[in-house]
Amino acid sequence: MIDQGASKAEPVTRTDIVIIGGGMAGSTAAAVFGRDRNVVLVDQHSPYPPVFAADKIAGDQIGLLKALDLFEPMIAAATLVSRVVNAQFGKMIERRVIEEYGIHYQTMVETMRAQIPERVGRLTGHVTDIELSDDLQRVNLSDGREVEARLVVLATGFNDVLRTKIGVTRRLLKENHSLSIGFDMTAKPGSAFAFPSLTYYGDRIADAVDYISIFPVRDGMRANLFAYRDPQDNWVREFRRDPQGSLYAVMPGLRAFLSDFEISGPIQSRNVDLYTIENHVTPGVVLIGDASQTSCPALGTGLSHLLTDIERLHAIHLGAWLASSGMGVKKIVQFYADPAKLAVDARALHGAHYRRAVSTQTSWRWELHRRQVYWRRRLHGLIQRANPFDPAHLSAVPQQS
Ligand SMILES: Cc1cc2nc3c(=O)[nH]c(=O)nc-3n(C[C@H](O)[C@H](O)[C@H](O)COP(=O)(O)OP(=O)(O)OC[C@H]3O[C@@H](n4cnc5c(N)ncnc54)[C@H](O)[C@@H]3O)c2cc1C
Repeated sequence: MIDQGASKAEPVTRTDIVIIGGGMAGSTAAAVFGRDRNVVLVDQHSPYPPVFAADKIAGDQIGLLKALDLFEPMIAAATLVSRVVNAQFGKMIERRVIEEYGIHYQTMVETMRAQIPERVGRLTGHVTDIELSDDLQRVNLSDGREVEARLVVLATGFNDVLRTKIGVTRRLLKENHSLSIGFDMTAKPGSAFAFPSLTYYGDRIADAVDYISIFPVRDGMRANLFAYRDPQDNWVREFRRDPQGSLYAVMPGLRAFLSDFEISGPIQSRNVDLYTIENHVTPGVVLIGDASQTSCPALGTGLSHLLTDIERLHAIHLGAWLASSGMGVKKIVQFYADPAKLAVDARALHGAHYRRAVSTQTSWRWELHRRQVYWRRRLHGLIQRANPFDPAHLSAVPQQS
């Protein structure tokens, strides 16, 4: 693997594909495209810093990682979550058998980076400029290094600077769409968590809290709380001072599930704007991951979106694009019109609006809908309790009613 620091670097590196940004999108793209293409990955951080983002792999992400042949290394670094207790109003509603994997985002990115083939060139540095054309793209780093490539894959996450430079605009759908608070927690000596993992839904609509998810990671438990609040909200500030008090203030019923615990790391918070992009069908570049569309963390589809982008590019588009000359818009538009990509992007946006509405809307229609959802779960839980053969009974969960 070429890991070029500024001092020993060649001034110009030539390749087929240059990936800018080495978070989950860029690192996964480098791991996959680097198997059969000439690729250079540029990121400003090595190692990847502790960032609060996806801490869990779940749902269709498992199949996508398997399809990309990246599932085994990823789960080797993660913790299997096979059962969840769903609860609200201080009561257990139901238990479910699930397959999810808890892993801190930093570990996830570093694990993915370890899968990048040796042949991929890696530059640690800050990209300041991109020049695009129908044939050759030029990428400039702040230290004077330059990369020439046929295709730029822009995977710079929320960062707007390079996107704006190449004329791509952000279409804001909802400013401060949601707020996420995350922290690690451990049980105090002599006590233990009474659940394998827990999803506790907000008790009162006025609090605009969706749910808290508490699940195992390598060294303890991770808690991610999702709310639809302004980041300047007093409660958010207060949370840093008194996390437990603030938690129970909006979820009083959560006390029934949490006994003695300690917060074992920093309180992390991030607010997410919901946006898509416009003017992005530009020669020589494709945008993937959060650079192209954000998702609501409460829905947990950000990884699905970026893994789908990468799977589509690799399986369908890149081979044909690189087999003929040029990298004009006729090629680029095929990626943005890919039906599988469009379906995942649409699902993420629809789900983001839904989660916000179901956690904040006070109209009678939404009230009715919330009750339906609650009673569907409750009924499932009651049937489950009456059925001794239900697989969820295999977990050691205290019975509460
Ligand atoms: C709190 C939170 C919880 C979430 N939970 C989930 C979840 O449970 N499930 C799920 O599927 N999704 C979740 N998501 C979404 C998911 O984390 C993101 O979709 C995903 O991390 C996006 O990865 P990315 O690589 O596009 O961006 P990032 O991980 O932000 O990577 C961008 C990279 O670009 C680099 N970069 C930027 N500018 C430059 C430059 N000029 N030069 C060089 N490098 C540059 C940065 O250094 C960074 O490494 C969550 C998001 C948040 C915020």
